[in-house]
Amino acid sequence: MHTWVWILLPLAAPAPADVVEIGRETWERPWMPDLRQPGRQIPIPEGRRIDVAILGDGYLAGERARFEQDVKAWYDRFLQYTPWSRLRGAFRVRGLWTPSAGRATPEKRSHYGIPATPADVGEVDGAATRAAVFASLERLGVNPARQGRDLTRAAVVLLVLDERGRNPSGKCRTLASPDERTRVRAAFAAYTHHEFGHAYGGLRDEYILKAGSRAARRPPDRLSIATVSNIAYTTERRLLPWAHLAPGSPLNPDPASVIGVCWLGGVEEEGAWHSEGRCLMNGRHENWDLGRTRRGENLRDNDRFCFWCEEILVARTFAKAGLLGEGEDGEALWKRWEELRPSYQKAFDVAERIRAQNATDAKARLGEARIYVRPAEP
Ligand SMILES: [Zn+2]
Repeated sequence: MHTWVWILLPLAAPAPADVVEIGRETWERPWMPDLRQPGRQIPIPEGRRIDVAILGDGYLAGERARFEQDVKAWYDRFLQYTPWSRLRGAFRVRGLWTPSAGRATPEKRSHYGIPATPADVGEVDGAATRAAVFASLERLGVNPARQGRDLTRAAVVLLVLDERGRNPSGKCRTLASPDERTRVRAAFAAYTHHEFGHAYGGLRDEYILKAGSRAARRPPDRLSIATVSNIAYTTERRLLPWAHLAPGSPLNPDPASVIGVCWLGGVEEEGAWHSEGRCLMNGRHENWDLGRTRRGENLRDNDRFCFWCEEILVARTFAKAGLLGEGEDGEALWKRWEELRPSYQKAFDVAERIRAQNATDAKARLGEARIYVRPAEP
């Protein structure tokens, strides 16, 4: 005779009707991958979980199903990127349904009042927009963790429907609450995963924004988790933050590789460099084509972050999860990351993936491009 024992688990409260939940089973008990024991997870406290609040502007009252689809599509896409696929347990992604009286246009009849035109999402930090965004964050109850005025474990993705019912060209901004006491990073409109790379990850654009512009920055003396950048302001190998990815390194022994060399541009054209020919953080604007004969080349890879962007995102997420130790000293946190780096490279199969990418790059003949230089040896 069998005895059935029913164990009653406390059920989580259902989400309020205006909250669109997605992937709850992934983030309900938040976790991070254990880099030292691949395949295992490390539980992290809820206070370390990162909230992604997906808000919708210009969705009409009858368009809730469309909003829910868009939230789901955002999350499905999120899970297709490395590193997000592997870090997914640390991200609570939720949408908030707020119907609008009209599309997002300069007449500002939409819920968040974003003055979008078909050309551009427009000025996204108006007083009404800021008030509505912070009301929504309160409604969702996002993680209140902060450093100074900045929320450190919450980011906003704002989907915008312009008069055509489409997402206009996007941007990333820091929004201040109406009382100016709290700030949150927000990704707006189209290319939300590129904009999310800015908003959450603090990554910079890898394209040339203005032809002939020159960077005034210098490479930092010491790296910090707060400021480490996907753009380098040197070509000297010993100063390159991604020297461990450069050709001839143990991780990337192929001398013909164009991963970890110095590709031209990073917002500015001169004196600013990024680490791979294509990346989700690249784009079009004033980019040269590979042969350096004409401008306007789209060098965005919609399907992947370059290896250096990926590592920055992983390091920042480990710091936010509290797995690099306590404290907010950015340089100390980066030192701890460098100790963990070999485990990350192993757990994330970085060497194998670099080999595969080298083969892809060789097929595309990226080595013949005239918009990169090899790191300068001392
Ligand atoms: Zn990149």
